[in-house]
Amino acid sequence: MTVHSDIDRASIDRGTPQRTATQSVTLEIDGLPVTVPAGTSIMRAASLAGIAVPNFIKARTVAQANTCINHLRQIDAAIQEWALETKKAESQQVLYSDISAYLKGAVVCPAGGTTFLDSYAITTVSDKPTCVRVTKGDHPHLLPQSAN
Ligand SMILES: [Zn+2]
Repeated sequence: MTVHSDIDRASIDRGTPQRTATQSVTLEIDGLPVTVPAGTSIMRAASLAGIAVPNFIKARTVAQANTCINHLRQIDAAIQEWALETKKAESQQVLYSDISAYLKGAVVCPAGGTTFLDSYAITTVSDKPTCVRVTKGDHPHLLPQSAN
């Protein structure tokens, strides 16, 4: 009868070879400090620290939300500029064709948007523009609503 011992941590395939450099470096992965020999891959270091998959995805979703919220600010600014120049009321409907000339370059949601219209919804001068792609979750693409 074979008795299996606890998993030998050294025998786990961590994807990249073990390093034996005399210098060690301390990385921070998902907020945890991990000290490993210099030259160790980030995936191996994460594995040694017990992190199965480092949270690259979280970093990306935060970056996308920041970019998109910045776009929403640009869109809102474009709407306000258009409304001011053309003397539109707060309740006036806004179309993309009204404001496209006020936007610099292509403004699309970084979370898979390909055009303005598949990325953003605009309604009236007083309503904030919204992203239609990421509306919930930990990092929604939402402008803080101003009290007005
Ligand atoms: Zn977005």
